[in-house]
Amino acid sequence: MKPPPFDYSRPTSLPEALALLGPDSKVIAGGQSLLPMLNFRLLRPSLLVDIGRIQSLRGLHETPTHLEIGATTSHRTLETHPLVAARFPVLAEAMRHVAHLAIRNRGTIGGSLSHADPAAEHPMLALLLDAQIQAAGPSGKRQIPARKFFQGSLTTALLEDEMVVAVRLPWLRPGTGWGFEEFALRAGDFATACAAALLRAGPDGRITEARLALMGVDETALRVPEAEALLLGSSPSAFGEAARLAQAAVRPATDIRASSGFRRHLVGVLVGRALEAAWGRAREGQA
Ligand SMILES: Cc1cc2nc3c(=O)[nH]c(=O)nc-3n(C[C@H](O)[C@H](O)[C@H](O)COP(=O)(O)OP(=O)(O)OC[C@H]3O[C@@H](n4cnc5c(N)ncnc54)[C@H](O)[C@@H]3O)c2cc1C
Repeated sequence: MKPPPFDYSRPTSLPEALALLGPDSKVIAGGQSLLPMLNFRLLRPSLLVDIGRIQSLRGLHETPTHLEIGATTSHRTLETHPLVAARFPVLAEAMRHVAHLAIRNRGTIGGSLSHADPAAEHPMLALLLDAQIQAAGPSGKRQIPARKFFQGSLTTALLEDEMVVAVRLPWLRPGTGWGFEEFALRAGDFATACAAALLRAGPDGRITEARLALMGVDETALRVPEAEALLLGSSPSAFGEAARLAQAAVRPATDIRASSGFRRHLVGVLVGRALEAAWGRAREGQA
């Protein structure tokens, strides 16, 4: 199918772009989710605002407290950037599971977060990494914690005259181990289910920090606070119970890829594997 007619604007500055946003316009970044939606006529904006020429929205910047990633930074840049590999290896690994290379070259972090697909990697990573999402609108900029940003399937806290301009990832503490486990029917497909974990180990072998996030198994990506609370202060013997708590926390759908029951089963398996991998890396980091 072909998209409905629209006007097209390609501003080169953020103020110019913001002045064009409103109820009848849509930002276009990589176009990898928007164009299919236009072609299927699920959206009928009268104006597309292409933010790909705004230099200030691109690239990575280090600060003492966090890594700032510009909204139009591509999945491929995050997959291959040495700073991401060194400081957020779980993010680099997750990017390898996003679609195919051609899509990763064009698709952007801001587009993926704004699109808020419940089976997309970026929303889950933003939750796992306690990201702050920076939005800009007519009244200035505001920081939205990832846990408040995703409000439902394809629904975020962004207002219609706002756009994502950057994502801030607080630095992880040294020695944080990570695990990322995704199940998809074919390489490049959206995940049927996915789990990611961060763990830190104390000198006595107890868990001193635990984060667990899931995707593809509910209306949005999610953290599992019940499992995180259980893990804190305990040892790997608690991983089985954490996986059961994760299974109980999700409301997976049945669709053409998998039944709800199979997705819940996957959550148990993937959480167990992600925790084991994170723990192995946390112990290595201590050595
Ligand atoms: C065949 C195929 C397979 C895919 N598989 C996966 C997968 O496995 N995992 C995965 O995560 N994704 C997958 N995707 C989606 C891909 O990652 C997209 O790149 C991503 O979801 C959207 O990024 P984009 O930059 O292309 O955004 P666009 O398509 O340009 O925009 C998507 C939406 O976000 C809005 N938007 C874009 N940028 C901003 C901004 N800065 N501020 C506010 N709103 C904005 C747009 O208005 C639109 O509503 C797949 C896509 C295809 C076509």
